[in-house]
Amino acid sequence: MIDIIKDDSLFVASTYARFPVALVSGKGATYYSDTNKEYIDMGSGIGVTAFGACDDEWKTAVINQLNKLAHTSNLYYTEPCVTLAKMLAQKTGLKKTFFSNSGAEANECAIKVARKYYEDKYGKQGYIITLKNSFHGRTLATLSATGQDKFHELFNPLVSNFLHADANDLSQIENLIKSYPVCAVMIEIVQGEGGVNALDKTYVQGLDALCKSNDILLIVDEVQTGNGRTGELYAYQAFNIMPDVVTTAKGLGGGLPIGACMMGEKVENVLTFGSHGSTFGGNPVACAGAVSIISRLNPEFLSEVKKKGDYIVSELKNLDGVESVSGLGLMLGIKTKKPIKEVVNYCIENGVLVLTAKDKLRLLPPLNITFSELEKAIKVIKEAIKL
Ligand SMILES: *Cc1c(COP(=O)(O)O)cnc(C)c1O
Repeated sequence: MIDIIKDDSLFVASTYARFPVALVSGKGATYYSDTNKEYIDMGSGIGVTAFGACDDEWKTAVINQLNKLAHTSNLYYTEPCVTLAKMLAQKTGLKKTFFSNSGAEANECAIKVARKYYEDKYGKQGYIITLKNSFHGRTLATLSATGQDKFHELFNPLVSNFLHADANDLSQIENLIKSYPVCAVMIEIVQGEGGVNALDKTYVQGLDALCKSNDILLIVDEVQTGNGRTGELYAYQAFNIMPDVVTTAKGLGGGLPIGACMMGEKVENVLTFGSHGSTFGGNPVACAGAVSIISRLNPEFLSEVKKKGDYIVSELKNLDGVESVSGLGLMLGIKTKKPIKEVVNYCIENGVLVLTAKDKLRLLPPLNITFSELEKAIKVIKEAIKL
């Protein structure tokens, strides 16, 4: 017999501070534990299950592909990978996609594209600027890109040639590009792990223009903000800008591991034969699932996402226990007056799965959560933050 919680502590690497809950099944935004307790999911497994647990359309796409072919290798063509890449190109205006298996790997690809673009064109090594409080992943390069010292400690030496600037301060970027040969700036439109902080629109637009006039690549990390999360297919699309590289993962696969590095016109051919690769990247099952997700993120659906986000904000923003609400669409951060640990424990004990980001409550519910599920969850959250 397996004792899930005890055996996890013995046999699984202790990298996660888990809640004392073992989930066994779910449908949409409702999950059940091994003790048959019901939970409403306000986290989507950190922004992954865009259409909730066991979504029928996604499941059908995945099972149909499983029944045909689960894996080939990248030595052969498969249809789902091409369909997904074409769909992403048509919906973003970016040109070519490299598929990987996670957000960190999508960003690794973006970093390699930026370095190689610069080497190819200028014959020297470039620097990449990222923002303080950013989060770009856990591999050594993406950890080095991440602008939070606490993730760096004990993992030195880091990958070199990363510079960090304060968010929403264009003059810092202007100064850095005067002092260093900068090949790219990488941003999140809403910093997720950093505390659900949306960048100012004028800053993002100014950065886009600055990058374009200096032949610096603009990389937008949409691992968390992408795939409908903010009420846009990709969050940058609300800002009237055109990045050179967009990375995504989390919600793209609907629950299966996939990452994507989308490359625009300037860099579509930077990656050449043999310059990058991934054994599992472009896996037909993961891609078939992703096609079923992306094909449903149409304007009507996305406007519902915005409505649900507005509903949550309007329910919470004026409460006594709330200091501030930040974020976009269904990616929201709530600074509570009560200690965040207390708030989260109350929610989980009372059947609502929530997340945190720094010292904020973070909500990333499935995009198709129903209003009645939302109402139930908000009721518990309100009790949790009540002073
Ligand atoms: C989660 C996240 C990553 C890392 O994704 P993994 O799939 O965990 O490697 C990178 N960037 C952002 C913005 C993220 O939110």
